Amino acid sequence: MKVILGGGLAGLSAALKFRDLDERSLLIERGDAPGGLARTFEAEGFRFDLGGHRLLTEDARLDALFRELLGSDLLRVRRKSSILLGGRYFDYPLRPLNALSGFGAFRSARIIGEYLYEKVRQRFGKEEALSLRDWVRGNFGNTLYEIYFRDYSEKVWGISCDEISSEWVSKRIQGLSLGKAISSALFRKRHGSERTLTDSFYYPRSGIGELPERLLHAARSHTTFLGSTEVVEIHHSDGLIRGITLLTPEGIRRVTGEDYLSTIPVTALLRALRPSPPEDLMERARTLRYRDLIVVVIMLDKDSVSDLTWLYIPERAVPFGRVHEPRNWSPEMAPDGKTHLVVEYFTNSGDDLWNMEDETISDITTGFLEALGIIGGEVVTGYRVLRIHHAYPVFDIHYKRTLQKIMDYLARFRNLSLAGRTGGFEYLNMDQAMLSGMNAAEEMGRRGFPELRCSTVLQPVAGQVSREP
Ligand SMILES: Cc1cc2nc3c(=O)[nH]c(=O)nc-3n(C[C@H](O)[C@H](O)[C@H](O)COP(=O)(O)OP(=O)(O)OC[C@H]3O[C@@H](n4cnc5c(N)ncnc54)[C@H](O)[C@@H]3O)c2cc1C
Repeated sequence: MKVILGGGLAGLSAALKFRDLDERSLLIERGDAPGGLARTFEAEGFRFDLGGHRLLTEDARLDALFRELLGSDLLRVRRKSSILLGGRYFDYPLRPLNALSGFGAFRSARIIGEYLYEKVRQRFGKEEALSLRDWVRGNFGNTLYEIYFRDYSEKVWGISCDEISSEWVSKRIQGLSLGKAISSALFRKRHGSERTLTDSFYYPRSGIGELPERLLHAARSHTTFLGSTEVVEIHHSDGLIRGITLLTPEGIRRVTGEDYLSTIPVTALLRALRPSPPEDLMERARTLRYRDLIVVVIMLDKDSVSDLTWLYIPERAVPFGRVHEPRNWSPEMAPDGKTHLVVEYFTNSGDDLWNMEDETISDITTGFLEALGIIGGEVVTGYRVLRIHHAYPVFDIHYKRTLQKIMDYLARFRNLSLAGRTGGFEYLNMDQAMLSGMNAAEEMGRRGFPELRCSTVLQPVAGQVSREP
């Protein structure tokens, strides 16, 4: 039997692949339902994701799978987003005229001048950029770095731009899609994946959580889902995982399998190993960090706030980074005649905001939404605050070496594979997380003990495009 640790999209997709291979699997998930980061919750008749999750893929097999699983419940949503920058609303993606009028002729000329200067400088060779700051300044110039990249990146990652890895940003410049929108509007650059800035996307009628639910349903014949069950210890000897200890609602339980696929945070996996890895590795692993998220749902007694799918707020003075109105993604997300806003705070567990009372966080959120003119005198009928661990792997300038050390250590376990976003410590979108789970399962099914234990780690994913901030 294959044992899958973590019931997010990567784990569920692996279970589906095992079904296709006629292999039985056991899926262990800490949450009370499948989905991980891609869950949808409901309160007082309002439905909301953990931050809006738009579904896109360039993989034809996955596209077919989405259609098969969701059928007529798979909606096509047109994307219409804005950026609130310096008190002004910019279209997203930016149009050249819109950008020019927003930034003003002087600043726009300066941005273009700096950009051209950097392009010329590149022709004469230049020093390697280690950090996001150096990479962006060396590619786009200082003004663009300061008006957008610096504040938004620091808001998302919670560390200074000179600590964020340039390797990540150069691979994933699309990941900073606001910056890309700005640069493509000003410089009219044609990027391979530019269509994603303007395109429509898929969204399940009752929220993204519908996707993991249907994946689990499809895999049911071959998988057993153990929800509300936490992996607490992973026992090993002689290069093999021998069994795992679980904390279940009924108490402690031990399970054994032949192969193990982990999609839980790689740091949690290390901590659970018995015997424990060497202390110097654990010491290093503690520097590998994930960014956490607080999602605040503000319920309103009116039928619409805007027609936007997303509003991005890079400004440092505003504590949250992104807002969306689920009704604009699917009308079934809110009760008739009402709407709600979902506000995302990028944060670290344990910091001041994380420890505040829910009511205080809701008051702060409502106050800023009013001050920004996003909501007016609407009656707020309710709120929900959710705290989410391990939302984003943090790619600081040291992460790659640390991750490589961890992978080198884990490579000794001949029946262990890693997959997924938190499992592989990779910035994967949903489709990529699903593919990594499927690929890992296929490898395990084909070879029993796969040699490559992380399906995608440290390798750029072909054609990858950004779905999130
Ligand atoms: C705010 C936000 C917005 C996003 N928007 C988009 C978007 O628009 N489009 C897009 O394509 N992608 C988006 N993503 C990315 C998407 O959510 C992920 O790519 C995908 O959900 C990752 O799936 P996963 O299975 O790899 O990881 P996870 O969903 O993190 O799954 C890991 C699972 O392991 C479980 N687990 C952890 N520890 C244990 C333990 N000890 N025992 C048992 N279980 C455990 C967790 O509960 C979780 O269910 C977004 C992500 C965030 C945070």
